[in-house]
Amino acid sequence: MARRLPVALTLAALALTLGACQAAHASTDSAWHPALTQPGNDQPSSAPPVSHAPSRAPSHPAAPSPAQSELPDGPPASAPAAPSAGHGPAGSLTTTGSSAVALTFDDGPDGYSMAVLDLLAEYHIKATFCIIGRQVAAHPDVIRRIVADGHSLCNHTWDHDLMLQKRSAAQITAEMQRTNDAIHAVVPGAPIRYFRAPGGGFSPQIVQIAAGMGMKSLYWQVDPQDWRKPGPQAIINNVIGHTRPGSVVLMHDGGGDRSGTVTALRTILPNFAGRFTLIALP
Ligand SMILES: [Zn+2]
Repeated sequence: MARRLPVALTLAALALTLGACQAAHASTDSAWHPALTQPGNDQPSSAPPVSHAPSRAPSHPAAPSPAQSELPDGPPASAPAAPSAGHGPAGSLTTTGSSAVALTFDDGPDGYSMAVLDLLAEYHIKATFCIIGRQVAAHPDVIRRIVADGHSLCNHTWDHDLMLQKRSAAQITAEMQRTNDAIHAVVPGAPIRYFRAPGGGFSPQIVQIAAGMGMKSLYWQVDPQDWRKPGPQAIINNVIGHTRPGSVVLMHDGGGDRSGTVTALRTILPNFAGRFTLIALP
């Protein structure tokens, strides 16, 4: 398709520019760009991603295509008739809609989730956890505690499929439903009111399907790229420097070694506790 050619060239140039960047974690939610992710690379483990969103990055993909009557397989279009009406891809939410700040943690439950929960409890801060369904059975205690501590739940697909935009409606629905079922097997009836596409790769179809299941599509406004393990101080500087009233902040409690994130939280949480109202997304 002619209209894709310049995009492809731009992306190729970007990929070359970024080629020197170190390997990092494929499940990142800021390396969302589907055209820059590797097909089938949906394991939340150790494959290198090729994309780097800008650090603040609710980075809208440049221009919405005029030809969005077909389901897009390029960058997410901005806000068509999408139920969420936010400013992220396909109308996903980047802010809380109030002055409150929402901390969100992706890619758990995993080995660092309890440490994050401990710190949140220590500072009496509520947050939102975006859950990978297939990890639930191994960490039911984490799921129970998220609910018991008053945090909220977000569906982050069954297997962190970074190519979710390419899937059929039935496949997308199954990714979401299977995850909600796994969570509800542990915490029956717990509300799951948010969905976050792996890598933030929302499409209008994904947003619509999530809405049909009672879930708002959740992007972010502040992204310290903690999955790249930049070190605690870089995470602290990014999050404290960029968060403002209403921000949705993206961090990770799963998907790899999150010790840097945990260390950063020891500074971020007390700082925020004195500056913002922090909420579990309602
Ligand atoms: Zn993720």
